[in-house]
Formats: sequence, structure tokens, C-alpha cells
Amino acid sequence: SDTPLKVAVTGAAGQIGYSLLFRIASGAIAGDRPVELRLLEIEPALKALEGVVMELDDCAFPNLAGVEIGADPTKIFEGVNLALLVGARPRGPGMERGDLLEANGAIFTAQGKALNEVAADDVRIGVTGNPANTNALIAMSNAPDIPQERFSALTRLDHNRAISQLAAKTGAPVTEIKKMTIWGNHSATQYPDLFHAEVSGKNAAEAVGDQEWLESYFIPTVAKRGAAIIDARGASSAASAASATCDAARDWLYGTPEGDWVSMAVVSDGSYDVPEGLVSSFPVTTSNGDWTIVQGLDIDDFSRGRIDASVAELADEKQAVTDLGLI
Ligand code: NDP
Repeated sequence: SDTPLKVAVTGAAGQIGYSLLFRIASGAIAGDRPVELRLLEIEPALKALEGVVMELDDCAFPNLAGVEIGADPTKIFEGVNLALLVGARPRGPGMERGDLLEANGAIFTAQGKALNEVAADDVRIGVTGNPANTNALIAMSNAPDIPQERFSALTRLDHNRAISQLAAKTGAPVTEIKKMTIWGNHSATQYPDLFHAEVSGKNAAEAVGDQEWLESYFIPTVAKRGAAIIDARGASSAASAASATCDAARDWLYGTPEGDWVSMAVVSDGSYDVPEGLVSSFPVTTSNGDWTIVQGLDIDDFSRGRIDASVAELADEKQAVTDLGLI
């Protein structure tokens, strides 16, 4: 289609935004289809955002059909087909979890309402800003006219990290790794699952054949990768988060390949005993902009315990934002 895909990005002047906008503008989500960027920032960051837009102009991207910036979500989200909610309030010194949930609650309540009011009928909403699952839950709960299936939170970076670790361990190229799954919350409790993944068509856990590596190296390395990157580069993993945000949006809109699936945090329908209504990561296939949770996977006791622990954390976060009156 030649009609531009209208893509909103919040927190556009932030570190992730600085990678993400250039990837989107060069076709990482929509390929050759033109894109129009709608960039939301808080008032004090608009000047910096103007500088980023100058750089977007200077790239002369052939498929960038337009850029608009502003601080009012009801203007910026007008008619958008895709909204990538990246901006969030980082945890400041001395901030308790409740303060963090409250600060983000205000942001995602307002953005959910604005999307409900003005986004295109076909809108898809991906949340990258942390705590991503619960922020998605808040936005979803404040957008009653948008089907709940249109919201998701990003666990694709965790998914990609798991693929990369498995590729390094087995010596297989990343293209030989399929059916990776991240279950649960995008947090340290997440469960990267090798029991259903495949390396060159063989079961990954069997191909590795090393439960000690899986438990004591693989799972914590994937779950704590963000902190390891901050340690090494002195700044957060913004470029890989931006890349994963593009991967997730592209696959959501344009479909997963035959014989593979991806991880997305989506509203639970009770699959795999994850309580209905929690935004939890599952293995999903996508087609025509809709996702379907992969059914029928055998969950052994080890996996069950890991999934339950992460889901318990999500239930806890949901209770906290319910108590705050945010949902
Ligand atoms: P980043 O662009 O680095 O990160 C933005 C969000 O993404 C944070 O919540 C961050 O979580 C999250 N995130 C998810 N995965 C990753 C990852 N792998 N690595 C790093 N971050 C990840 O933050 P900045 O502070 O540079 O920029 C945020 C921008 O958002 C600012 O410009 C601010 O003005 C803006 N903002 C805009 C709002 C709006 O548009 N209404 C509202 C609030 C803020 P974590 O904190 O856990 O690292």
C-alpha cells in the first residue's frame, strides 16, 4: 500500500528513540511502505526532539512521508495505526516501587485514554517503557473501545537475547534457532524456555544437554543482560531495545514465518493457567496483525515453577495498580 503507515513513538527524544526512529524511517517495520512519524515528548524534551527531527531530515529517507512532534497525546495519536509507547518514568533515587507505578500510571492512563479517543480503528499498541507489562495493562484498561488484543508489551529483546545465547552455546547461526519462548514478565523473573525451542530442527534442551548450564548460566544471563550491558557500556541497552521494538512490530503487522513463533506479552485468555486478564509473555504466531497463543505445549515441573513465579509477580503488580485506582 502507498498510504503511509502512521507510527506514533512516545519518549521520542530518549535514548531508545534515538535508535528507533532511524530504524523505522529506513523501513525496519514497514519495508517499502512509506511511514509517517508522530513523535510525543514531554514539554521540556521538545527542543531536543526538534534536533532529532533535523537529523531525520538530513537522512533524506525515501520512505519517510512526514514527521510531526508534540506534547499532546490527543493530537499526536490522531489516526495512528501503530503506537510504540517507549517513554516512561525511570526509577529515581529513593523512589519506591509504588511511586514508580504511580508515576507511570499517570502517563499510561492518559495515553490509553487518548488512543481510545483518536487512534485509527486498526491501531496496534506496543509498550517498551518499563514496567512494560503493567504499563500495557494500564493503557489497555483505560481504552475500553480498543480490543484488548491490540495491546502488547515487549519481551522480544529477551527473546532475541535468548536466541543469541543459545546460538553462541551450540555454534549454530541464529537463523537455525526457532520456537524460542519467553514466559511471564519482562523482569528478572522472566522464564526463557529451551524445552520447546529448536536448533536445526532438534530440541534445544536436548541439543545443549546440560541442565546445569541452562539453570545456572542461560536463564540468569538472559534475565540480567540489561544490567550487564549497563556495567559494560555505562549506558543502557537502548539500541538493542530499539531493534527488538522494530522486530516485534514488524512481525505483529506482517506475520511470523511458517514453522516458527515469537514471544509477545499479551492479555491472557487463561492459556497455560496464566490468569485471564494479565499481560504476560507467551509463544505466539501472528498473521494479518493478529496474534494467537501457541497451544498444546507440554509444561514440565521445572518450567511450571518458573512460569508460576513470574506470573505471581505480574499478579502482584496488577494488585498494586488496582489499589492505586489506575485500572
Ligand atoms: P530510554 O529511551 O533509554 O528508555 C525508555 C524506556 O524504555 C524506559 O522505561 C526503559 O526502562 C525502557 N526499556 C525497555 N527495555 C529497555 C532496554 N533494554 N534498555 C533500556 N531501556 C529499556 O530512556 P530515556 O530516559 O533516555 O528516555 C525516555 C524519554 O521518555 C525521555 O526523553 C522523556 O522525556 C520521555 N518521556 C516521555 C513521555 C511522553 O511522551 N509522554 C512520558 C515520560 C517520559 P528502564 O527505565 O527500566 O531502563
